[in-house]
Amino acid sequence: MDITLDRQLPEPGADQPDDVLVVRGLRKTFEAEAAPVRALRGADLTLAGGEFVAVMGPSGCGKSTLLNLVAGLDAADEGTIVLAGEEVTGQSEDGLARMRRRHIGIVFQFFNLLEGMSVLENVALPAIVAGMKRRPAETRARDLLDLLGLSDKAKAAPGVLSGGQRQRLAIARALANEPTLLLADEPTGALDSDGGHEVLELFRRLHDGGQTILLVTHDDTVAAAAGRIVRMKDGRVVDEGASLRPVPIPIPTPVPVPGP
Ligand code: ADP
Ligand code: MG
Repeated sequence: MDITLDRQLPEPGADQPDDVLVVRGLRKTFEAEAAPVRALRGADLTLAGGEFVAVMGPSGCGKSTLLNLVAGLDAADEGTIVLAGEEVTGQSEDGLARMRRRHIGIVFQFFNLLEGMSVLENVALPAIVAGMKRRPAETRARDLLDLLGLSDKAKAAPGVLSGGQRQRLAIARALANEPTLLLADEPTGALDSDGGHEVLELFRRLHDGGQTILLVTHDDTVAAAAGRIVRMKDGRVVDEGASLRPVPIPIPTPVPVPGP
């Protein structure tokens, strides 16, 4: 009998009904003083539910632009983004905001925490903005802080936290609305190695719990934690990488014991 991993991941490139993200032919040009910058020149990417994918590539190749477009923070010039079966491209501002609240959690290199609010309030805010009452939002925020090992810091100001703790807090906040897809742009880029390790462990745990993650990184150690590495160059995805395919694990045949 073969034992296989319980989650079958589809072949990259083949659209599946359970794909969380399908990006096709994405183009984005920024007007700049000298000459227009073609940040995305036809990028394609597919993520199945539960995948942890790292995007790597030289500085300026379009990684952040890709993430921002997927998050609905900016609009594409051409191409399509389908998130959890819904088309992102072509949505109104309101539609985009609704979609972001329902489906997207995003974490940046420099945390973007609200310094005037407590740790707990930072985590509770997205749920309150999404329409949840303060009390249940704070209860959920407390649960998240527990899960992320920050509950003793609930009342503190974010400013007193270490870099790793600040990024864990930013991740807790990104998870507040139970996003379909967690996006992270160089989440360890501003951290020392201890902080980076802390944050990486957290991504691993979230992935083990079934969270779909798309993360941009320069760091090979971080990328190695992902199940698949996608490589970008000059505004395109040049290698979608191989997903961790279910590998049959042979059970060793018992060596026959000679009879008496
Ligand atoms: P990466 O994250 O891979 O380093 P980016 O997606 O940030 O790359 O940027 C891709 C290219 O687009 C770069 O040349 C960058 O300078 C340019 N770019 C990104 N955002 C803007 C912007 N808002 N205005 C003008 N140019 C931009
Ligand atoms: Mg970037």
